[in-house]
Amino acid sequence: MTTIEIQRQLAALGFDPGPIDGITGPRTRAAIRAFQSSRGLLVDGIVGPQTRAAFVAARPSSSPAAPSSSPAASIVPAAWMPRAAMRRVHLHWTAGAYGANGLDQNAYHLLIDGTPKLVRGKWPISANVNCPRGAYAAHTLNANTGAIGVSICCMGGPGVNMANHGAWPMKREQWEMAVQAVAELCRFYSIPVTDKTVLTHAEVQPNLGIRQNGKWDIATLSFDRSFDTARKVGDRLRREVAARL
Ligand SMILES: [Zn+2]
Repeated sequence: MTTIEIQRQLAALGFDPGPIDGITGPRTRAAIRAFQSSRGLLVDGIVGPQTRAAFVAARPSSSPAAPSSSPAASIVPAAWMPRAAMRRVHLHWTAGAYGANGLDQNAYHLLIDGTPKLVRGKWPISANVNCPRGAYAAHTLNANTGAIGVSICCMGGPGVNMANHGAWPMKREQWEMAVQAVAELCRFYSIPVTDKTVLTHAEVQPNLGIRQNGKWDIATLSFDRSFDTARKVGDRLRREVAARL
């Protein structure tokens, strides 16, 4: 097994190895140790014969190619992905109901409604190659150039906050579909999975240094409230996207 294969396997099994970069750094070592611990193996952070065997045993049910955990079938139609030089994917929520309305379609390239089903936005992804005038998907303040906007239709209504997710909380199925769509976009546009290139709107200000006036999408997951900061949600997004590449 190469280091890349080990990192992919760790990510697919839910152990965060950090970037899938072929380098056995501290995060990859920690993930190997966590995996060894979970399998009752000697915890030394080294992939020897026993750990390798445990990886192989884990593969059939949980490798990224297994249809149960990650559908291999593409969900983003080819016609929705025109050739263009794109550098980032930003994941949002609409702060609306489960349907994608005209305003939403104007602001994002791709939406995931409450069905869940993929909905195409008004502007093609190529409209955001550069954004000098108004004819593009304006999903992120001062950070739309080179950025694909994907949004989950949810979290609308008065008084919605970290504790109260209102009448349209995010469904796990919507998140799963968003992860798959982001992975397909990364693959097609050759976008690396880093915290500066695949991120939620709530991470744009901390990670890119571009002010966003208190945007908190996505700092909480309705179906798993233990994910309660932008960093935790963003790391989960990148881990799950990387596991599907
Ligand atoms: Zn947003």
